[in-house]
Amino acid sequence: MGSDQQQRLKNLPSIDVMLLQMPEEISTWGRSQVTESLRSYLSDLRASILDGQTPDTSNEHIRQTVIEAVSARHGDGIVSVFNLTGTVIHTNLGRANLAPEAIDAVTKVAGGPSTLEFDLESGERGSRDSHIESLICDITGAEAATAVNNGAAAVLLVLNTLALGKKVPVSRGELVEIGGSFRIPEVMNRAGCTLTEVGATNRTHRYDFADAIDDDTALLMKVHTSNFKIDGFTKAVPDSELSELAKAHDVPFVIDLGSGNLADFAVLGLPNEPTVRQALEAGADLVTFSGDKLLGGPQAGLIAGRADLIRTINKNPLKRALRLDKMTVAALSETLKLYRNPDNLAERLPTFKLLTKPASEIRAQAEQLLESVRDSVGDRFDVTAENTMSQIGSGSLPLETLPSASIRIASKATNDSEVRDLAKQFRRLPKPVIGRMHKQALWLDCRCLADDQVSDFIDQLTSLTQ
Ligand SMILES: *Cc1c(COP(=O)(O)O)cnc(C)c1O
Repeated sequence: MGSDQQQRLKNLPSIDVMLLQMPEEISTWGRSQVTESLRSYLSDLRASILDGQTPDTSNEHIRQTVIEAVSARHGDGIVSVFNLTGTVIHTNLGRANLAPEAIDAVTKVAGGPSTLEFDLESGERGSRDSHIESLICDITGAEAATAVNNGAAAVLLVLNTLALGKKVPVSRGELVEIGGSFRIPEVMNRAGCTLTEVGATNRTHRYDFADAIDDDTALLMKVHTSNFKIDGFTKAVPDSELSELAKAHDVPFVIDLGSGNLADFAVLGLPNEPTVRQALEAGADLVTFSGDKLLGGPQAGLIAGRADLIRTINKNPLKRALRLDKMTVAALSETLKLYRNPDNLAERLPTFKLLTKPASEIRAQAEQLLESVRDSVGDRFDVTAENTMSQIGSGSLPLETLPSASIRIASKATNDSEVRDLAKQFRRLPKPVIGRMHKQALWLDCRCLADDQVSDFIDQLTSLTQ
């Protein structure tokens, strides 16, 4: 070994010396994480010196490398982002934004005791569903309702309660995969019931169902095909006919509505989407739907319908495993209260506010941002405002899009990797900006950028490294 090499090895700082220089990192990540990371990097440095190389062994360089390593390993946890993907109810970005009333309620119950399961009147134990049930019933016309962790849990609980060890006929056109591996046939299997496939993918008739029903049939089920549409030569049995058929055989008729719209979309100027009330009026004995899709609340699954069935469901021990926590109960109940005044829903419920934002307003916002974005990405990119279409998202109304506007950022050299790099830099901003890659350009749809977020958005653009 040369004396240079020996000297370089000797110059490597000890772990203890480095630890003394990293009090903040120790407080953030914990002593053992930082120590482990230092040990590993110092051993890499030692190996590379022995290999004849001359790596940077300054304390500052080692400190930075260790910080990068521990933060890459542990991340920052869940962080808030700008959703400029053009998909309003984005499952990967947390679906619905809560209304201020819901957020306040969460804050209040999160930090202290609450009446989650306590009845103030009698001073005795209460029910956590009581905060939600009457609201759901008023809005949908249901006799009774209950709430669980999410839409998938609602379906699982209904099937497991009413169809355990029995058969459930479902149209072949409705054996859907919702995403995140929620497939109706698999859920049925796990719920302990047997799926009877009925009809063909494109056409299912009333007689198909009638033929499938026997003494082992527990219920009839209809699944709203939220995230796709079969077009052309198609036929589905109307809800009212399935309901008649179910009644004739004395079994419940269940509709998994998915999105669970509670509002009149015609009034809001949005594409038609069946409501929970309509499904119940068409004869469903139970309807299941999500809390954080078109309803605009927290993640939850709602089950609404016949009181006797809801009572049975509530007795299933799985209900306990799938129940809501207090923060969700608070947020859901405040969200549902907003539906008491349907006239101002578009103003007060963030999901509807975003969905009904006029294209002209979005366009104006895109144009207002153009200059700042152009300045910050540098002259290797073309930056323009374009009219685009937003999606509602979360499998709601898959074919319906809403006119919107986006900032399009394309590499002048039509260099794909340059645009990808830029998209990555946007994702590395203090409040990450999530856009959409399409036709070798980065598109930032401005629908979900609220007016009061514009200055925050612009301010951080200076951190883009050019
Ligand atoms: C979304 C959806 C579900 C699942 O609901 P989650 O709240 O995502 O668990 C179930 N069925 C249908 C038809 C859906 O669209």
